[in-house]
Amino acid sequence: MTSPHRYRISAYDPAAHLFEVQLRVASPDPEGQVFEMPAWIPGSYMIRDYARNVVSIRAESDGLDVPLTKLDKSRWLAAPVRKSLTLIAEIFAYDLSVRGAHLDNTHAYFNGPCVFFAVRGQEDLGCELEIVPPDHADAADWRLATSMRRMEGPQYGFGAFEADDYAELIDHPVEAGNLSIGEFEVQGIPHAIAIRGKTHVDMGRLCHDLETLCERHMSLLGVPRGFDRYVFLVYAAGNGYGGLEHRWSSSLVCTRDNLPTRGDDTVGDAYRTFLGLASHEYFHSWNVKRMKPAVFTPYDLSVEIHTGLLWVFEGITSYYDDLALVRSGLITEKSYLELLGRTISRVLRGSGRLKQSVEASSFDAWTKFYKQDANAPNAIVSYYAKGALIALALDLKLRHETLGRVSLDDVMKACWQRWGETGVGMPEDGFEAVAAEVSGLDLDDFFQASVRGTGELPLDALLQTHGIQYHVRASSGSSDKGGQKLDNAKQRGVWLGATLTESNGKSTFTSVVNGGPAELAGIAPGDEAVALDGLLLTSANADKRLKAYRVGDELDLVVFRGDELVSTRIRLTSAPLDTCYLELVEDVELAVESRRMAWLHG
Ligand SMILES: [Zn+2]
Repeated sequence: MTSPHRYRISAYDPAAHLFEVQLRVASPDPEGQVFEMPAWIPGSYMIRDYARNVVSIRAESDGLDVPLTKLDKSRWLAAPVRKSLTLIAEIFAYDLSVRGAHLDNTHAYFNGPCVFFAVRGQEDLGCELEIVPPDHADAADWRLATSMRRMEGPQYGFGAFEADDYAELIDHPVEAGNLSIGEFEVQGIPHAIAIRGKTHVDMGRLCHDLETLCERHMSLLGVPRGFDRYVFLVYAAGNGYGGLEHRWSSSLVCTRDNLPTRGDDTVGDAYRTFLGLASHEYFHSWNVKRMKPAVFTPYDLSVEIHTGLLWVFEGITSYYDDLALVRSGLITEKSYLELLGRTISRVLRGSGRLKQSVEASSFDAWTKFYKQDANAPNAIVSYYAKGALIALALDLKLRHETLGRVSLDDVMKACWQRWGETGVGMPEDGFEAVAAEVSGLDLDDFFQASVRGTGELPLDALLQTHGIQYHVRASSGSSDKGGQKLDNAKQRGVWLGATLTESNGKSTFTSVVNGGPAELAGIAPGDEAVALDGLLLTSANADKRLKAYRVGDELDLVVFRGDELVSTRIRLTSAPLDTCYLELVEDVELAVESRRMAWLHG
């Protein structure tokens, strides 16, 4: 029995970065068959128009060419045929991101939306996929990792795979190359991690830690129906960071330093970052891949789909990603509070939080969050970072006001039962209604202010109820991410109110804070720094240079705007208290202590 849709992808010209994709449709539409490439990939809310990478395309039936008509940027119409119809296309693949496809002599990686055409009107039918290796000698040792169900071929080899429908076909990224593979089990379910890139990873430790982490997530919401395997696909690069979630896998990009090496058993900043990323994508297996906004059921991949709920699906996931690290014992309470302090600092540093709500940020993700320009810090708020802080505030509020009876965990469990286990999409007001229902509290004012409003969150008071002291201070400079206590002497006294970034040996003002000294001095994004007070100004020396000045000092500032020299005067003001750190209060009452334990250790 063969599937109605048989796809075949071959890495046929790695040097030219070309995949060849064939698609055989057993029973094409008798009126003429429409084929379509997605404009976007679920989880990454930007129009990418994957059809732009189609280099050539043709169709045939019964050995004869079939006329193809291009209907619009993403769709083709094949003339009516009486037998099966085969589409054959060359697709350019040279995007190393977790949203792309990439083929060269060292590996092949693809996401389904980049390479597979949908058969319009038949999206619900079963699909088969044959993956063919390149025929150059280096590829003989390649292994292949994917969460797609295997029909033929050895484990981690090339072969044939199957998916229930088109949506599933494009939800299994595939990586083939020289892979380091580790395996572990979580509640009897096989999990694997496949890493591409030269590393000296301590695979035993990595698998052990991931198992602990995944176990923790699994214990919160339970094993989803049909969740019978999971694969982390990791690209360990010289540079880069990011991830994309899928139902049975995730794609991660990190730096080599993010992975644990043999002989090192600490969890430093870099490894903690990797664990946080893996934790984030794994939690998405529940939150957004199975439980999702109603407007995503099903996904329409041809146009932007707007929802005000991304703060629930990305923000709450960002809250649980780090929380799971401390709850599973992989990091200490102190280390977790440092991460929280960093998230709070990220939000405090953008005045856009006072202009855009997280609901609006979610809705406009397509054109604002995903298309950030130099004005973004002044104009928008991240539904990830502020969404995580709303989740924190809600969790602490629920725990405090119900005397520990209800927490965000209970709200998530109720949401999961209603929308995750059923596959029914969450309505736009669903999360808030369930939070109120489960807790018995009137949360209208809280959600109005935090989700639709732009005021500051009451984190100081809420953390206090859990024995955590909230502090703000000035930043120590461009490398200060926050989260740590610092002597006054190390903090900035004055600031420029602009970000300087180095690229190609030039230091450029990349963003300018509304109302800050640089803006008042007429500095604009894109201006190249030349001199401050008669001396060279660069992104590398700016923090040190500013140490010499006091609040109110007026200095000459010279920049290039384009190729024209511009001289101005800048009046330095005191650096804002935009950097947060949190401290565990010792000697708290027993009730506070047990509330804090329940929060941080589940
Ligand atoms: Zn995410």
